[in-house]
Amino acid sequence: MIHVEHLTKYYGDYPAVRDVSFDVSKGKIVGFLGPNGAGKSTTMRILAGYINATSGQATIDGKDVFWDPIEARRRIGYLPESCPLYTEMRVEEYLRFRGGLKNMGGQERRTRMEYVIERCWLKDVRRQLIGTLSKGYRQRVGLADSLLANPAVLILDEPTVGLDPVQIRETRKLIKELGDQHTILLSTHILPEVEMTCDSVILIHQGVVAAQGSIGDVRNQHGNQSLEEIFVKITGVTE
Ligand code: ATP
Repeated sequence: MIHVEHLTKYYGDYPAVRDVSFDVSKGKIVGFLGPNGAGKSTTMRILAGYINATSGQATIDGKDVFWDPIEARRRIGYLPESCPLYTEMRVEEYLRFRGGLKNMGGQERRTRMEYVIERCWLKDVRRQLIGTLSKGYRQRVGLADSLLANPAVLILDEPTVGLDPVQIRETRKLIKELGDQHTILLSTHILPEVEMTCDSVILIHQGVVAAQGSIGDVRNQHGNQSLEEIFVKITGVTE
């Protein structure tokens, strides 16, 4: 469903992503791990069509993100690391507006809005101004937006960052449930989160894929160490 081949991104002279290749099969939840500055957000922004790669190829459900960007984007729901929202809009007003931008209208938009409001626990705040919401609720609005058009693929950049422990638990549960209907690439720093939520992992360090596979396979390849031990060994970073 997500196919990435020899992806490279330079910011000026700096190679943020170097020759990255991976595949995510339909219906899988894949954890995209790496220390700060490893290149996770850069890779995700390229997949979501926000920035161009310097070289390499990426396809979403067979649609090339460079050559067929509109079709590729139609298949993606993207939650960026810091989700830009219109703070002067009310939650449902914002979702209606976003649905319009996604070419949704009429009954389809109404049905999907109700679904995401329910699914992302936004019922109590649906008429509240986004600017008055807490960080956790804003994150839920971003997640609701990414789910709105029922995309085949969800790209979630640190979806639990800044949430309180209860919200983190709810969000992990939601992501796990969403895995039944969507293919999910999820970046996080929280290693137990990956163990709880994901089928497999891609560990990226200094722009290069350092390990990938099912959690069991990656652990087997490293003497059955925990993901945390493997992460520290590869990156030298204690998370
Ligand atoms: P984090 O977990 O901290 O969000 P990340 O793995 O998502 O990190 P990226 O945001 O992809 O990492 O950044 C990869 C590298 O590219 C970093 O060294 C970062 O400073 C650099 N970088 C990111 N965006 C830009 C930019 N627009 N211009 C120049 N350098 C950038």
